[in-house]
Amino acid sequence: MTNQHPKTFIVLPDIHAGMLSPEALEQISALVKKYQVPMTKITGAQRVAFLGMEEAKLSQLQDELKIPKTPPHHRNRVHYVQACPGETWCKYGIGDALTMGKRIAGLDLDGPLPAKVKVGISGCRMCCCESWMRDVGLATEKKGWRFTFGGNAAGNPRIGDLIAAGLSDDEAVELIRKTLNYYLKTAPFKSRTARFIQRIGADELRRALLG
Ligand code: SF4
Repeated sequence: MTNQHPKTFIVLPDIHAGMLSPEALEQISALVKKYQVPMTKITGAQRVAFLGMEEAKLSQLQDELKIPKTPPHHRNRVHYVQACPGETWCKYGIGDALTMGKRIAGLDLDGPLPAKVKVGISGCRMCCCESWMRDVGLATEKKGWRFTFGGNAAGNPRIGDLIAAGLSDDEAVELIRKTLNYYLKTAPFKSRTARFIQRIGADELRRALLG
């Protein structure tokens, strides 16, 4: 069967780690019906995408949701943070992934990042948020957070390098801030963390960050 829908999409921004209140769900549901959105989808980045709309309706929906027509450049912030339910909601969780997600999403950095930085935070070693494959990966172990950097799941995939383990919440946030500030000051424009760390080497990065 041929798909008759245009291949348009918009993504609802600023959803924290895929968590939606009853009010937000009701609003989304009402808008999906009002604009007859052909498909609504939870994305891999834990956001909501509206797919297959005619341009005119898409534009009206964007206005109603206050989504800018040209995506703003939030390059002083990480691109998105995925976080699992963690110890608050999951029986296996030993770390508060959701709170850490909020803290990392809100980090104020020293300048614009060279490229997208995706973050995956998992509340235990099961790694449901694929932390090893994210630019910044956090997963909780018995002794604290394990921080990996330089992972990527795209065409040239890469497992992130272990930067430090056994970190407290504050230590993990601070080390991530330091790492991203080092990355933004050192990496060429458009160089994703995976290529950056491949070039300089994980030992050099650890030396620069941890002394
Ligand atoms: S990573 Fe662990 S804590 Fe998080 S959802 Fe998966 S099993 Fe639960």
